[in-house]
Amino acid sequence: MKYISTRGDKTERAFCEILLEGLAPDGGLYLPVAYPKVDAATLARWRSLSYADLAFEILSLYIDDIPAADLRTLVGRAYNAEVFGTPEIVPVRRLGDSGVLVEALSNGPTLAFKDMAMQLLGQLFEYELGRRGEELNILGATSGDTGSAAEYAMRGKKGVRVFMLSPAGRMSPFQQAQMYSLQDENIHNIAVEGVFDDAQDIVKAVSNDLAFKRQYKIGTVNSINWARLLAQVVYYFAGYFQATKSNDERVSFTVPSGNFGNVCAGHVARMMGLPVDKLVVATNENDVLDEFFRTGTYRVRGSAETYETSSPSMDISKASNFERFVFDLLGRDGARTKALFGDAIARDGAFSITTDEHAAIAGYGFQSGRSTHADRLDTIRSTYERFGDLIDTHTADGVKVAFERVAAGVPMIVLETALPAKFAETIREATGQEPGRPAKLDGIEALPKRFTVMKPETALVKAYIERHCA
Ligand SMILES: *Cc1c(COP(=O)(O)O)cnc(C)c1O
Repeated sequence: MKYISTRGDKTERAFCEILLEGLAPDGGLYLPVAYPKVDAATLARWRSLSYADLAFEILSLYIDDIPAADLRTLVGRAYNAEVFGTPEIVPVRRLGDSGVLVEALSNGPTLAFKDMAMQLLGQLFEYELGRRGEELNILGATSGDTGSAAEYAMRGKKGVRVFMLSPAGRMSPFQQAQMYSLQDENIHNIAVEGVFDDAQDIVKAVSNDLAFKRQYKIGTVNSINWARLLAQVVYYFAGYFQATKSNDERVSFTVPSGNFGNVCAGHVARMMGLPVDKLVVATNENDVLDEFFRTGTYRVRGSAETYETSSPSMDISKASNFERFVFDLLGRDGARTKALFGDAIARDGAFSITTDEHAAIAGYGFQSGRSTHADRLDTIRSTYERFGDLIDTHTADGVKVAFERVAAGVPMIVLETALPAKFAETIREATGQEPGRPAKLDGIEALPKRFTVMKPETALVKAYIERHCA
């Protein structure tokens, strides 16, 4: 399988060429030249596979520059019961006798779905860097989920260092404990005395210094990375097999969404032939995506219009993976995709597709819905009272929208993207209950912490990187 850009550059690149990359050179995102189609016999064979074996089969369709035996080893190291706590990896449960089911993507080391992709990425990065005899220094800014998932995936990996900037004192005690308690030498937590945007600005400034970037082999693990998206395709298949008895049945998915990475993997699974009826995009008050699916206008928001909500991992002003779906929707017209995402967004901060194009969205199964803080509290409370099931705030946005969209005879699977333990304050507000946490995380707040506090200055961060790359 080869990969091309969404903005018209048709140069075909191999998987390992784009593995360590973010954007394509023309500013677009990478997609496979075509989606491999899965026939009925293959789907039947896959139904009985373990998660790791299923992942191997799916990844093999997209990766032909890693020998099969090696790929199987890497996948086995990423997806096992020791890392994810259960043999199913992504167990599915039904809410009472309703038509709504919940698929847990939240049992990884950091209790959020970012682990699903990041654990594989850690294995792939170490393997590929080893093969090339190269090193990589991952630089990022985080307000929680992504940074901790990256650190847990890269800890102890050869050839990789992580420099993760976070806003000092602004994450929850649990999140701080999760990140700062890591003692691995290749993990560097830098607590910047400022807000998240200060940390983000420093990362941008360092990455824009091309000489520094090249000399110190600076890279990222952001959500536009194709390997991350590919890893996520697997759990759509795994969820389908658990929720159905035969491959004649269809299911729908509701996905709590921010950057459109999670649900874009669902789009890929559907394009491969997984029997998916609807893909429902659930947003919080930051409803850029819901607005697009309703109106056909995509309008990115400024920081004044980006709200801090109680489902913070969905607080986005633009959806960085969304271009991938629009490229497919527009018949893979790279010039048009560039005109919309490159030119119109830069000029107007928005674009609109035509009425015909908007009508074509239905053929891809997409629907959308929106949820607010009051909806989250209601949904967490009612899900607990009706079904005895405690869900986190992001999953609650999904469950709220799922009950609006569920259709008779088609199981609706909500992707559970985090455990309630991560968002204890809102859970208490909704239910008066203290959410439990997995035993291995008991007392994590009391562990010794390893982090460096720094003024928000690019020069200081660069000097720190130089000192630690010797
Ligand atoms: C990242 C994240 C999301 C949003 O996923 P996208 O791929 O950005 O759409 C939802 N919930 C949680 C808990 C997350 O960490």
